[in-house]
Amino acid sequence: MITKPQAELRIVVDLNRCQSYGQCVFAAPTVFQFHGEESLEYDYAPGEDVRTEVERAAAACPVQAITLGTPAGTEAGR
Ligand code: SF4
Repeated sequence: MITKPQAELRIVVDLNRCQSYGQCVFAAPTVFQFHGEESLEYDYAPGEDVRTEVERAAAACPVQAITLGTPAGTEAGR
């Protein structure tokens, strides 16, 4: 059996709030990408190795559309 690390990363983007500014794409290009003109796609469960980039992306989002959490639940944004 493989034991999973405690703090797995989960991302939720409120696409109703997202204005396609693209700051997250610049901050974490391996996690966030634009598909077509302005539809944002993202890896909702990226590896721990990109946590810093994802945190930067969340901080950079002008409309605070990115929420970080764990599989057990989403942490409060603030
Ligand atoms: S930075 Fe925020 S508003 Fe811009 S594309 Fe990413 S989630 Fe959307």
